[in-house]
Amino acid sequence: MPMFSKNALQKLSENNGWVGWVFFLDLIDGLSLTMSYFLSKTVTLQYPDKEKWVPYPRNRGHHLLRKNNDGSNRCVACELCAKICPCECIKVVPYEDEQGERRPLVYDVDTSRCLFCGLCEDACPVEAIALGQLYEFSSYTRQGLMADKEKLLTIPGKTETGGYVVRAKLKTGTDVRVEAQEDTGYHWWDRIRRRRQVKDAA
Ligand code: SF4
Ligand code: SF4
Repeated sequence: MPMFSKNALQKLSENNGWVGWVFFLDLIDGLSLTMSYFLSKTVTLQYPDKEKWVPYPRNRGHHLLRKNNDGSNRCVACELCAKICPCECIKVVPYEDEQGERRPLVYDVDTSRCLFCGLCEDACPVEAIALGQLYEFSSYTRQGLMADKEKLLTIPGKTETGGYVVRAKLKTGTDVRVEAQEDTGYHWWDRIRRRRQVKDAA
C-alpha cells in the first residue's frame, strides 16, 4: 500500500510548489533513517545480566595503588595527593621502614566524598595512585565506600584499551557484581549505522 495517495501528492505539488517538495523529501529522508534504525542491530547494552561496558583507560573510576616490580607499594607517602585533594578525602600517615624509606602506614580514600577530579593522580610524583576503570563499587553503607591501603593495592590496574562491551555475568552470591567473561568484546558504535558510515568514509 503506498504511503501517500496520488491525490495528496498532486495537492502538495499544486499548493506549495517546490517548497512543498523540499519538505516532503526531507520527511522521506527522516522516515528512511527511522526505518534503517528500526531494522538495524540493537545498541542497548544488556547490563548487568549479559554484558558489561569496559571504559577507556582515561576513565576516572575507583582509585588504585600501583606496585613496584618487586610487589612492594610504590607510594612514598609524600602526602601530595592528600594536600591537593579539594575534598580532603585522602588520609596518609607515613612511617619509616627498616631501610629508612618513607612508606604509608595508613592510606585511606573516602570515595563517598570524592568527586573524581583526578588531581591526586596528577600530583603523584611516582605515579603510585591512579583512578582506574572500576566503576562498580556502590554500597549500602558509608563504610563500604571507604578504601584502605590493602584494598587499593588489590584493585586491578588500567588496561591498555577500553571502550568496548564484553560478555558478562551478574553475581549476587556474596556481593552484587558483574563479572566479565572475556577480555575483549565489540565496540558498541559499530552497531550505530550513521557512525559506521562516517567511519567508513574517513
Ligand atoms: S579524585 Fe579528586 S576528589 Fe577524589 S581523591 Fe583524588 S583529588 Fe580528591
Ligand atoms: S600516592 Fe603519590 S602523591 Fe600520594 S602519598 Fe603516595 S607517593 Fe605521594
